[in-house]
Amino acid sequence: MKYCKYCGSEIYIDSEICLNCGRRVSEIEAKADNSVTLGLVALIVGMFIPLVAWIVGGIGLSVANRTNNSVGKKLNVAAIIIGTIVFLFAFAMLSQ
Ligand SMILES: [Zn+2]
Repeated sequence: MKYCKYCGSEIYIDSEICLNCGRRVSEIEAKADNSVTLGLVALIVGMFIPLVAWIVGGIGLSVANRTNNSVGKKLNVAAIIIGTIVFLFAFAMLSQ
């Protein structure tokens, strides 16, 4: 059991709404889900700086996994893949 942060009454650990006061208590919902924003930043900046794609994409992916955001997951995975491709391409160009 946990307690509603608004009215203090006992609520089930997996409930999203407090039955006493009707307010949303889900912690997943309360956490800011910025995984889509992070994914877009990682995708765009990562096309030029692969390191950014890995770091920002990695953070975005962990946020997306926590909040179960499938769009965020796809964007961040795509960013990491694109960052890797850009890195390999740049590496191949430099080693010529
Ligand atoms: Zn409540």
